Amino acid sequence: MTKLSWTGFSKKTPQERIQFIKEHLPIASATSYRLKEQELLSLTTANQMTENVISRMALPFSVVPDVLVDGQHYHLPYVTEEPSVVAAASFAASIIKRSGGFQTSLHNRQMIGQVVLYNVPHMQKAQAAIAAETKALLAIANEAYPSIVKRGGGAKMLTQEEKGDFLIVYVTVDTKEAMGANMVNTMMEALAPRLEELTGAPSLMAILSNYATEALVTATCTLELRFLSRNQQEAVTLADKIARASQLAQVDPYRASTHNKGIFNGIDAIVLATGNDWRAIEAGAHAYAARDGQYRGLATWDYLPNKACLKGSLTLPMPIATKGGSIGLNPSVKTAHDLLGNPDAKTLASIIVAIGLAQNFAALKALVSTGIQAGHMKLQARSLAMLAGAKEAEIPQLVTELLQAKHMNLATAQAILKTLKK
Ligand code: NDP
Repeated sequence: MTKLSWTGFSKKTPQERIQFIKEHLPIASATSYRLKEQELLSLTTANQMTENVISRMALPFSVVPDVLVDGQHYHLPYVTEEPSVVAAASFAASIIKRSGGFQTSLHNRQMIGQVVLYNVPHMQKAQAAIAAETKALLAIANEAYPSIVKRGGGAKMLTQEEKGDFLIVYVTVDTKEAMGANMVNTMMEALAPRLEELTGAPSLMAILSNYATEALVTATCTLELRFLSRNQQEAVTLADKIARASQLAQVDPYRASTHNKGIFNGIDAIVLATGNDWRAIEAGAHAYAARDGQYRGLATWDYLPNKACLKGSLTLPMPIATKGGSIGLNPSVKTAHDLLGNPDAKTLASIIVAIGLAQNFAALKALVSTGIQAGHMKLQARSLAMLAGAKEAEIPQLVTELLQAKHMNLATAQAILKTLKK
């Protein structure tokens, strides 16, 4: 994608932003049309996607521009209702870009399915029988979903483990561009009868695991202190405090939960925009955060005084898809993929983990300096003004007065609006 100045983007109207995107990004003409006409999910399509549909629900669709990941510039579609999240991500991404951007690595990209057997009559014999048939079992799994094998994917490895009263068979599957839940579930259900035959044990369930430890992605960045603050001493203090905040999230689950929520402010926004299953991503990541028995912060920051830099790192499972599920159905999802330049699933996973790290940096920097509320208050005041029923022209004055009020709440907003209308 081209290098381009996004200065002033946030000050434009939505129409001006669309015009800017149409003029400067190599988006498809269909995307340009969808943006211009604001084409959204139709009721007919929505009704085909899930059950008991009566309407659709809209959310703000924003852009976090110019995020530098592995030397490429990406403009990220963000779907979130929370004020400050887009501004924080944009701020963090822009200062991380000046320090060279994000570097990412993909450890693997496979999903894991499991068939769980119970009441196993003879555990050792059962395990031996499964081990002897590994190849044939993988073949059964692949025959159950031949199209993924044709695409170069499919079931690759089978292992087993005794856990409590259960014998659990794990199968890793390369699901290519799909998240693979339905694929893996189909394969596991096909395996269950043969495993029952082999072991004489009934199967309790056969399903994908969302703990996608074979789909880990790491994003790192190295921030030069001079970009933290122009004041050298202040930059050192900030770096030291951010590193301490990261240590805190390693030892205190109360903080770790909020630390990780901040990461998901960014990750969920793009996972949702790209039509992916955010429950699956959240479930896998939170399990990974507790992998050693204690729930910990997923992103870590180290202050390296001898190199005058702050180094950030985030690793989590990211089984993101560019095909399958509802991805091809929702017009806004197509717009999101097009804005990103239609990356493949591995690249998309890298971009998402990178922005999770950026979002965490923005939250920590605010927390250890001005506090989180300073940035939130103006947007909170705006939300209150809208809730109070202010018209577009009344909002700026109402926000100014709300920010000066002793108690910033809906009642105050309504009272100010009343006087403004007089
Ligand atoms: P799909 O069932 O939609 O399967 C993927 C589809 O994408 C297939 O039709 C496949 O075609 C097509 N496709 C096209 N190109 C490719 C490619 N290059 N690589 C891979 N597939 C391609 O989706 P998934 O199996 O990924 O399942 C995801 C859905 O399952 C989500 O909606 C999720 O919410 C849901 N789900 C999640 C669960 C969980 O997380 N625990 C449990 C149950 C469901 P073809 O068939 O021709 O190969």
